[in-house]
Amino acid sequence: MAMGEFELIRRYFQQDGGAFGVVRGVGDDCALLSVPEGQQLAVSMDTLVGGVHFPPNADPELIAERALRVNLSDLAAMGAEPLWFTLGLTLPSADEAWVKSFARGLLRVAADYNIALVGGDTTRGPLAITLQVHGSVAPGRALLRGNASVGDWVFVTGTVGDGAAALAVIKKQLEVGKSAFNYFMNSYYRPEPRIAFGQALQGVANAAIDISDGLVADLGHICEESVLGARIDLGKLPLSEPVRKLVSLDKGVQWALSGGDDYELCFTVPQARIGELERLIEQKRLQATHIGEITRGSGVTCFYKGREVPLKRQGYQHFE
Ligand code: ADP
Ligand code: MG
Repeated sequence: MAMGEFELIRRYFQQDGGAFGVVRGVGDDCALLSVPEGQQLAVSMDTLVGGVHFPPNADPELIAERALRVNLSDLAAMGAEPLWFTLGLTLPSADEAWVKSFARGLLRVAADYNIALVGGDTTRGPLAITLQVHGSVAPGRALLRGNASVGDWVFVTGTVGDGAAALAVIKKQLEVGKSAFNYFMNSYYRPEPRIAFGQALQGVANAAIDISDGLVADLGHICEESVLGARIDLGKLPLSEPVRKLVSLDKGVQWALSGGDDYELCFTVPQARIGELERLIEQKRLQATHIGEITRGSGVTCFYKGREVPLKRQGYQHFE
């Protein structure tokens, strides 16, 4: 892009100073950052492609919200504290109104979660957004996928299935009333990264992951990394009221298991620390539902009323 266009984009993304550890942010050849003393850096990157991960004609403010929230969810799943992020932006054209609105959404979420935009790159091409987030976590305190033990209880935060329901609503596969439409738009574009929950789980949970591809697929990652299996009691899955009202229980459960895009945390807790977990829940520092156990063997097995239920479909669907 022409230099003038870069200037424009930089102007919208330049932030006031004062963020933690930022010696130099947007505007120099590199960002210069002071890592908090004695902490480890947690780094994660996610790319969202227009037409694949979101409708390309969606409100740019919402696209930005979703992009940053989804990336923050990975920091949450490690129990990390957000610090800084960089933005790789590929745009078909330097549309000032689009950039202005995108920046407004992005910087609002950044302020809400106390994470500073410190740099990036801007190119012309099909709409795509890459974010790299950086967070800090004390050595030995990060929540890893591979630390689950046999007998751990499996939990999920919030509700599951809303992401898949929202996708069906946005793709107009399902008709809903105004209040349900607003609920699902909100869950799709403004998922809540469970930063505080992730931090509360340090020293309590053995393993954790955020649910981006679907509960079965993501709990499956914990199983693979821990070289163990898991069982889920389908009767315990926390489905939201709007999902229960919208579809049959069967469909809701299927969404919860394989839909994805929920960005809740799935985590495992050894039985010796269930008391601590319950205290966190009582103190409202955590909201979570017990849905199953870690077992010997491999893979995720589902049960309903004590009987095994074969899985219809795993994994996630793209936007198209
Ligand atoms: P360079 O040619 O050195 O890569 P750029 O013109 O790409 O320089 O970027 C100049 C400054 O603007 C850098 O500090 C870079 O981090 C920042 N920047 C460029 N694009 C973005 C963006 N999309 N978001 C945030 N910062 C950006
Ligand atoms: Mg550059």
